[in-house]
Amino acid sequence: MKKIIILIILIVFSLVISLWLFFNIPEFHNEENIVWKKKENEIKTRLLAIPILLYHNIDGKGAFSMDLPVIRSHFQLFKNKKIRVIKLSELINRLDKPVPFDDRVIVITFDDGFNSMYTKLLPLVKEFQYPVTLFIYSDLFMKMKKTGLNWEKLRYLDKNGIDIQAHSKSHADLVHLSGENTPGSRGNLFREIYLSKKAMEIYLGKEILFFAFPYGKYDLNIVELASVAGYKRVFSTDYGSNIITRNNYSLRRQHIKRNYTLNELEKLIQ
Ligand SMILES: [Zn+2]
Repeated sequence: MKKIIILIILIVFSLVISLWLFFNIPEFHNEENIVWKKKENEIKTRLLAIPILLYHNIDGKGAFSMDLPVIRSHFQLFKNKKIRVIKLSELINRLDKPVPFDDRVIVITFDDGFNSMYTKLLPLVKEFQYPVTLFIYSDLFMKMKKTGLNWEKLRYLDKNGIDIQAHSKSHADLVHLSGENTPGSRGNLFREIYLSKKAMEIYLGKEILFFAFPYGKYDLNIVELASVAGYKRVFSTDYGSNIITRNNYSLRRQHIKRNYTLNELEKLIQ
């Protein structure tokens, strides 16, 4: 009986102590704790939201073309801020099995297929060891336009850190073609979306899985055609990051303009 009374006293005593601690030690319930919880959620969200950056040329002409020192400063910023540049395919694998990244990551893409990809981007990619995806439109290389690049150089880029993917056949406005909806325009859409994929697969000797809309323009019909053509994902120029837990077929890309400051760029990728 005596033992039971001692036990009850002990239980009551420890309960009183616990309650006292809870209401008097600030760490248990104060504002700091709430702020920290908020911060923790913020970090988790940030590791779930992955930006895909979009660049074009590196010759310093026009709003979307970078000077080499500018793009170098961007690459250096990612390194200084310990942002990991991952392959586009790594992001897609994460979308299929949604788990947040342990660190901050971004994806870098380029559009069109300018000669500077070979002369300026390739040395930069080798120096920083960043994987990059380049979306090209196949007519640029079929019609021997003055790009300076050819299939042989593209194959070389593809084997040296610059993954080549599809950006249509002739860089046509696909929404315009889709809206026409005539036998002729439907044939053109087939060539732009499906035949360009097949041509690239023959010339590059690999499967083409990703499609970037010319001018970033798309509608539901185009998205459906791309899916039927066998693309694993399509890419717009819609503003914003991609959330790992939302496994979208169409992914957003952040257009990087030449007049962005490093601060502005940092805000985009946070
Ligand atoms: Zn383009």
